[in-house]
Amino acid sequence: MTSARIYLDHNASAPLRPEARAAMLTALNVAGNPSSVHAEGRAVRAIIESAREEVARLLNARPNDVVFTSGATEANNWVMSAGWDVICLSAMEHDSVLAPAHRTSAEIVEIPASKSGVADVDALGEPLARTAQGSKLALVSLMLVNNETGVIQPVEQAAALAHEHGAVVHVDAVQAPGRIPVDFAALGVDALVLSAHKIGGPRGVGALVVREGADLPPFVIGGGQERRRRGGTENVAGIAGFGAAAAALAREKDVAAHMERLRAKLEDGVRQATPNAVVVGKESARIANTSCIALPGKPAETLVIKLDLAGVAVSAGAACSSGKVGSSHVLEAMGLAPEIARSAIRVSLGPQTSENDIAAFLAAWEKIAGSAAIAA
Ligand code: PMP
Repeated sequence: MTSARIYLDHNASAPLRPEARAAMLTALNVAGNPSSVHAEGRAVRAIIESAREEVARLLNARPNDVVFTSGATEANNWVMSAGWDVICLSAMEHDSVLAPAHRTSAEIVEIPASKSGVADVDALGEPLARTAQGSKLALVSLMLVNNETGVIQPVEQAAALAHEHGAVVHVDAVQAPGRIPVDFAALGVDALVLSAHKIGGPRGVGALVVREGADLPPFVIGGGQERRRRGGTENVAGIAGFGAAAAALAREKDVAAHMERLRAKLEDGVRQATPNAVVVGKESARIANTSCIALPGKPAETLVIKLDLAGVAVSAGAACSSGKVGSSHVLEAMGLAPEIARSAIRVSLGPQTSENDIAAFLAAWEKIAGSAAIAA
């Protein structure tokens, strides 16, 4: 007998929505290069432009501000590489922000994080004032939601402070749509990054939304595509799937409340089975679908492998990339003890997650991590 898999790793990648799959198949069947002026080219161009409108609508942005990329990693690399003198960021950022930022010649200012996982935005004041005095070009980069803990970051506050000092603001909003409203205009940021596969679109496509006037030099060059902002023939099927996923997400109702209810059940069950478990970031405002659970003394990879063998898919910390072991840089940045940072798993729910999925997770958790298992 084969039992169904329980997928609780939506922050790593969400299943493709049927609407996205259908839009991709339609796009794959249309011939033509979107830059061509003939009818075939124009038909493909229309697919891209309608997807751009859907993505813009989801974010309350202008379609012209949306630039399609190969994913959030490229978009984050793009922003970091734009020639800043100073980059202020939190050490809890995703690797696709941290690695390119540290590769530039910019001065990197790391703002601290609280033990409950919130970046200390007030710490931006001094470095930004100093930067403004020296007429330096400064970027502030803060994710909207942390991918490991689900903790919501004070982006609006950071943006207001940064703009007082003439700095540019970048937000990695990858984990936010469908969990909290994302309003590009209201956030007041200059650049916002999104990834299709986190919202039920395909992997390998994303977007950089750039406010008009906040011109970034192009990162991928050698073609006039995307209004000279991102060269290369567009990933038409990927973009079509992204647009359809954005439209489907925008139509969804009450999904966050559903996930929040299930997460509460999950965390209650975990506390009962393993009273020593720590739910990281639970004191802070969190998105509804994410639970970061540490079981001090148990390496996260062991828990992930055992849960996998029991049919349940979760992540160890930020392990989006395969084979990544060790400690979570996010939890370390929060100042949590190494035995917690090394033992944290991330359980992330989706709109389709059911009561049965949570019950199956808890049954597996009890067997693997419960007090009898620990004593053994
Ligand atoms: N930023 C965050 C917060 C993420 O969670 C991820 C995906 N793990 C990325 C960026 C990278 O996204 P992509 O897979 O589209 O490159």
